[in-house]
Amino acid sequence: MKTLLKVVGILLVLAILGIIAYLLPAHIQVRSVQPDFPSEAELQALTRIPDGPVNIRYINTSSQKTAQGILSHTAFIVDWADGKRFLIDTGMDAETAIEFGKVLESFVDAEPAVPHGNIAELLGDDIQQTSGLGYTHLHIDHVQGTKPFCAVRGPGVTLYQSHWQRDLQNSNTVDSAAIIEDSCLSRTVVDSNGLSEIDEFPGLALVGIGGHTPGSTLWVVPVNGTLWLISGDISNTKADLTNNHGKGFLYSYILVPEDTGRTQDMRLWLSTLDAQQNIKVIVPHDIADIKANQLPEFQGR
Ligand SMILES: [Zn+2]
Repeated sequence: MKTLLKVVGILLVLAILGIIAYLLPAHIQVRSVQPDFPSEAELQALTRIPDGPVNIRYINTSSQKTAQGILSHTAFIVDWADGKRFLIDTGMDAETAIEFGKVLESFVDAEPAVPHGNIAELLGDDIQQTSGLGYTHLHIDHVQGTKPFCAVRGPGVTLYQSHWQRDLQNSNTVDSAAIIEDSCLSRTVVDSNGLSEIDEFPGLALVGIGGHTPGSTLWVVPVNGTLWLISGDISNTKADLTNNHGKGFLYSYILVPEDTGRTQDMRLWLSTLDAQQNIKVIVPHDIADIKANQLPEFQGR
């Protein structure tokens, strides 16, 4: 009996060491991304750039009822007066959304996911107008929709990324990186040590932020004096962001290796910005907050 206990103990220690050895490189990697946050003045300057975006709308590719509320998988469409259009994130197709939902069902109190259509179906004929694309980060629920998008759109779309988003992958982002590699997108890497404007899309800017994934990116979209900050998955609900509530040990240390110090800094920084009159921080999974902020839904044209 004593020997058996000893063996079980040794196996347990080995298993824990194995998990640590597996997760450690990802934790070191995500902590290597520490750029300064841009100042509010730098962000506000974007609202004064001529010929900036005239419109931002959301597209909801799927929803799932959880104990915390409805978790949605949204994408964002940004329009310019001359007809240019930029897409932020691509959500998931129906099959992937249901599979992804099952993972959530097994970890938290959640109902099965309800898909609303892939991004190509939801964009309809307007898909050809899209010539630029960016991701908040390379998790599958934000990137998989690139497959149906490309199947219909074909070449002619430029992906804008930070070097961190292009170069730094972990076990949670490699699948998305492979989808991008095989996609219709041509890639442009934008210097992202701080705030980087996207010259081809006046007013639009990206900020490499890290924290949730090494390549996590904040998209800044000025529309008629309002600054929309598309924050990715720093938090999954707006309440968690404004209450400075983290995701817990299991999520941030085991499931998705996060830099929790940095995600906390970002929650505090974004909460301060969100309190400004003309700044609205958008948490892409929080459909209730997106609606509360009166961000309109894309319904064609
Ligand atoms: Zn997500």
